[in-house]
Amino acid sequence: MNKFEYVNAKHLADLPELLGPRWGESAILAGGTDLLDMLKERLIEPKRVVNIKNIKDLYGISNGNGIEIGALTTIATIAADPKIQGKYAVLSEAAASVATPQLRNMGTIGGNICQRPRCWYFRGKEFPCLKKGGSKCYSVEGLNQYNAILGGGPSFIVHPSDSAPALMALAASIEILGASGTQETAIADFFQLPVDNLRRENILKANQVVTKIMIPEPARGTRSTYLKFREKQSMDFAISSVAAVLQMSGNRVQKARIVLGGVASIPWRVKNSEAELEGKTLNAANIENAASVSVANALPLQHNGYKIQLTENLVRRALQSLS
Ligand SMILES: Cc1cc2nc3c(=O)[nH]c(=O)nc-3n(C[C@H](O)[C@H](O)[C@H](O)COP(=O)(O)OP(=O)(O)OC[C@H]3O[C@@H](n4cnc5c(N)ncnc54)[C@H](O)[C@@H]3O)c2cc1C
Ligand code: SF4
Repeated sequence: MNKFEYVNAKHLADLPELLGPRWGESAILAGGTDLLDMLKERLIEPKRVVNIKNIKDLYGISNGNGIEIGALTTIATIAADPKIQGKYAVLSEAAASVATPQLRNMGTIGGNICQRPRCWYFRGKEFPCLKKGGSKCYSVEGLNQYNAILGGGPSFIVHPSDSAPALMALAASIEILGASGTQETAIADFFQLPVDNLRRENILKANQVVTKIMIPEPARGTRSTYLKFREKQSMDFAISSVAAVLQMSGNRVQKARIVLGGVASIPWRVKNSEAELEGKTLNAANIENAASVSVANALPLQHNGYKIQLTENLVRRALQSLS
């Protein structure tokens, strides 16, 4: 890695100035499980690394009407939290499916939603692809079995986070601190498609930091689950995953939020499937309809067409488990 200045930030308010206005000059260090790889591979060469782990305001889960999760709360803490397990099962299941115990102990929720893509051309220094300012996307004609089938182009990354689809299914909001104070944004507006922002995956500016995540109290009768398919069962990113949150009245679905992971450049909400469920009984026929439209708009590349059937199956199984 390159030589850099290492700053232990102590106060939240100092962060925007420490980070500065230009991408590439500084980097935020939370758990470091992604950032350290990026530094070691020289994919980023910042002049300054800002450690935020000494900022106490960024820790913890607070309960009120809904919950607020500090950006430095670890994935392990979220997976083990009894209130999250009880009321927000989709999030605790997603957190429990992340990586390994060691990585869940180090990795934070802020870092999990802000982690950079895993596309192997992006991670390989020898491939100056579009996302790194180059002139071509190597995935289009290359080894693209793990790339996006939805929302792709001109880059075909998939969003790697397991927590992000769960948070989107729970209609979470993100608090962001920047030079002009804090702002709150719906998680659906936080992530950006490559067509809107090729170089970055979310709306954060260089001098902004995620400070907390707010999740509304689920309505009575809400059930939820997260289902993930990965190649290595011991530890792997999602090849495809589904976060499903259903607000039920008896066996009738009042509201549905279904979000896919591992198949699109952002956590991908499938309103088609939700429409097949809302106002209807959660029975085999309606589940089948919801599953079959979930990837109806998919545009697979040469080697990732298998994700279509895989995702339909995951949606079907997730909904069956909630019936
Ligand atoms: C072997 C391996 C397997 C993995 N498997 C999975 C998996 O199955 N599922 C999954 O979801 N993830 C997986 N991950 C990714 C891992 O979960 C993330 O690296 C971790 O959650 C990131 O959190 P962190 O605190 O370590 O972030 P860091 O590495 O410190 O930071 C990650 C990125 O986010 C930025 N950042 C961190 N915090 C903030 C903040 N508060 N505001 C703004 N930007 C911020 C950093 O600057 C950096 O760019 C895996 C990682 C590894 C190495
Ligand atoms: S999918 Fe994105 S990150 Fe991967 S090679 Fe193409 S432009 Fe680069």
